[in-house]
Amino acid sequence: MPGGNLAAGIVVALGAGGTDAPVDASSPLTEPTRNPAPAPGPAPASTEGFLHEGALEIDRDGGRRGDGDTARIRVGAGVTAARVEQLAAAAGFMFPPLPSSARWATIGGMTANNAAGARSFRYGAMARWVEGVEGVTVSGDPIRLDPGSGLPGAVSSVLPGALPSRWPEVRKNSSGYGLDRWLRTGDPAQLAVGSEGTLLVVSHVTLRLTRRPPHRGVCLLPVHTPDQAGALAVAADELGATACEFLGRRLLDMTGLDGDPELGSLSRGALALFLLEFEGWDTSQVAEALGRAGDRGREIGGSAGLATTDPVLANRLWGLRHRASPLIAAMAGKGLYSTQFVEDSVVPPARLGAYLEGVDRILREEGLGMDAVVFGHAGDGNVHLNPLVDTDDAAWRDRVRAILDAVVELVVDLGGTLAGEHGDGRLRAPFIETVWGREAVASFRALKEAFDPDGLLNPGVILPSPGQDPLQGLRPRPRSWPG
Ligand SMILES: Cc1cc2nc3c(=O)[nH]c(=O)nc-3n(C[C@H](O)[C@H](O)[C@H](O)COP(=O)(O)OP(=O)(O)OC[C@H]3O[C@@H](n4cnc5c(N)ncnc54)[C@H](O)[C@@H]3O)c2cc1C
Repeated sequence: MPGGNLAAGIVVALGAGGTDAPVDASSPLTEPTRNPAPAPGPAPASTEGFLHEGALEIDRDGGRRGDGDTARIRVGAGVTAARVEQLAAAAGFMFPPLPSSARWATIGGMTANNAAGARSFRYGAMARWVEGVEGVTVSGDPIRLDPGSGLPGAVSSVLPGALPSRWPEVRKNSSGYGLDRWLRTGDPAQLAVGSEGTLLVVSHVTLRLTRRPPHRGVCLLPVHTPDQAGALAVAADELGATACEFLGRRLLDMTGLDGDPELGSLSRGALALFLLEFEGWDTSQVAEALGRAGDRGREIGGSAGLATTDPVLANRLWGLRHRASPLIAAMAGKGLYSTQFVEDSVVPPARLGAYLEGVDRILREEGLGMDAVVFGHAGDGNVHLNPLVDTDDAAWRDRVRAILDAVVELVVDLGGTLAGEHGDGRLRAPFIETVWGREAVASFRALKEAFDPDGLLNPGVILPSPGQDPLQGLRPRPRSWPG
């Protein structure tokens, strides 16, 4: 990558125009090859634009070390996250909110859900990386939302001037509408992010990308009590970790880690294993961060754990985390179906321990000892709780309902929301007022009505239809795996 303080807006032609176009990150670029702006007028009726891959533009000014720190790319809503990451990586950048579902999650779906990935702990969720959203309104008119675009008058007139008095203070959220982000930034695109297809149909998204620091290290730290889990989640932020994930006891059992010659001593007797990742521009930065993490691990959980900068071992440790979903899905073979109805709650990290304790109690009392697997984004207080439902039990639906109601109450008590990255959908919409309170929901309704007065776009999503049952349509079944 040539150095120097070049002009902003240089464009790297990366596979522009088609999903299978070859990626060429090495071409010397003096002449911008910017994609033409979309023609004004109605959006195309075909799906072609949804798979559009734009050119990657690199901002040369203000960059760290003078070689450019930020880039942007405009893509169609149907392009996958994995493809964006591939395009970014070819030019030395990364797409920070890359989710575990990157191979099939589309940029439209991720924008609509305010999705996130493990590294969102440091880099933030989708909202932080969306620079502009283009799409179509319910009346079929094209709409563009970005910091310079302003909002349609009908929408601006209903937005609150300040946040509703009750607003959950969580690090990560994909429940409700992004009024907080809109009020903080004045950027109308933030209303589209997390709107779950209820305000507009997204056709294109302009994403910001950032430089990929070249050095990484990972450490695995055990905790033995819920309190220790909460303390380590908070410490991970102070330590500057890029990611802070955890694997709960049940998942550790499923991985068979206790018998592992290298990792078994950390896993045995642990309530959970935490995986912390650190990045740096030089190796000493990473080594120092890993050293500090080991010290904090010893103070909190009694062990400095295992730390590595070896990419092979680091990948193996990440692999433990990535095996979570397939391992859980495999329980279907034993008649236990991982059922996602309380799978995405988020609480302030300092309350993670209280949440884990509360969930244990609920599964015991309301689920009558229902088996469940927990893992997720500990540093953000975002827990993927996966009850394993025995559908041969005639009362499974009643138990699921009782667990759902109790978890909602717990999350509200702890000041959280029911969705950190998966959105409300129709499942969580009936609880929106319980979680957010009347004032916030009144603002949500006003926003929805301004965009979609007849309620045609994704009815019952985020805001419930009258009498909506959260469990309608819930069918535990083995998850199918793309590719
Ligand atoms: C195994 C597994 C792992 C996962 N890991 C993660 C993870 O790490 N992080 C994470 O955030 N999520 C994760 N998810 C959830 C899911 O993959 C993401 O939320 C993703 O963002 C959904 O993208 P999608 O393209 O599948 O969207 P869909 O599920 O098809 O849609 C999601 C929502 O967006 C709306 N929508 C979709 N496209 C548009 C559009 N063009 N315009 C307007 N609205 C639209 C839909 O109506 C819907 O409300 C995971 C799911 C699974 C099954």
